[in-house]
Amino acid sequence: MKYIGAHVSASGGVENAPLNAAAIGANAFALFTKNQQRWQAAPLSQKSIDAFKKNCAELNFPPQSILPHNSYLTNLGQPTAEGLEKSRRAFVDEMHRCNQLGLIYLNFHPGSHLKQITEDECLTLISESINIAHAEVPNVIAVIENTAGQGTNVGFKFEHLAQIIENVTDKGRIGVCLDTCHSFAAGYDLRTLEDCERTFAEFERIVGFKYLKGMHLNDSKSAFESRVDRHHSLGQGLLGKEVFKYIMPDPRFDGIPLVLETIDPDLWKQEIEWLRSLEK
Ligand SMILES: [Zn+2]
Ligand SMILES: [Zn+2]
Repeated sequence: MKYIGAHVSASGGVENAPLNAAAIGANAFALFTKNQQRWQAAPLSQKSIDAFKKNCAELNFPPQSILPHNSYLTNLGQPTAEGLEKSRRAFVDEMHRCNQLGLIYLNFHPGSHLKQITEDECLTLISESINIAHAEVPNVIAVIENTAGQGTNVGFKFEHLAQIIENVTDKGRIGVCLDTCHSFAAGYDLRTLEDCERTFAEFERIVGFKYLKGMHLNDSKSAFESRVDRHHSLGQGLLGKEVFKYIMPDPRFDGIPLVLETIDPDLWKQEIEWLRSLEK
């Protein structure tokens, strides 16, 4: 079975996210558990936690259908000690919030070397950051998102994801989320079914489907190999529709959240319906 949804608003409280997801016909969703542009956030209230759990149970969103997204500010591969510590504190707090909500995933962008350290050193710091978070918070799986490779971001090659995983101690609590737009912009072609075969075979060889815990389903405004991260609505960008026809009937993508981060929320309901029509 496919879990299909979108990154919905949690404005007014995290408990509103499942309501917003149900309203567009989703059986999966992503959310921010705090304002993604701020370092600090008030702790989740017990009232909000209880309401979130109640709404998820009533609307049939089990934890494995929900992919919370980390704040955009943290850089777990930060070259400077002070900045790294700040990011690590924030990441532990995000993991804690997920755990309080009964969630099992936390999706995050791996980090950036800021031209101050090597890619390799940056990847090592990221693994260490994950090990620290694992030691402080139980249950939650850290889900690394592949990036478009914009700026000095690491994580745009499958080898980067594999290297981060290799240095994480608890292999049972590390996973990967592949973003179709980021993959395409990073130079993994997905425009034809043959391209999809090749790209996902490479993913299986280098990382492994056993680590795949979620997908972000986006078309791309930016060109192939452009290393620029610009999402588009499904079928309206340079990536096209074939990749979604490839993913939807494939059982390797069953049971994990498949989340739209496309640019027009008014189209989400329609996009979800279209994805469902491709399942068989
Ligand atoms: Zn994404
Ligand atoms: Zn993106």
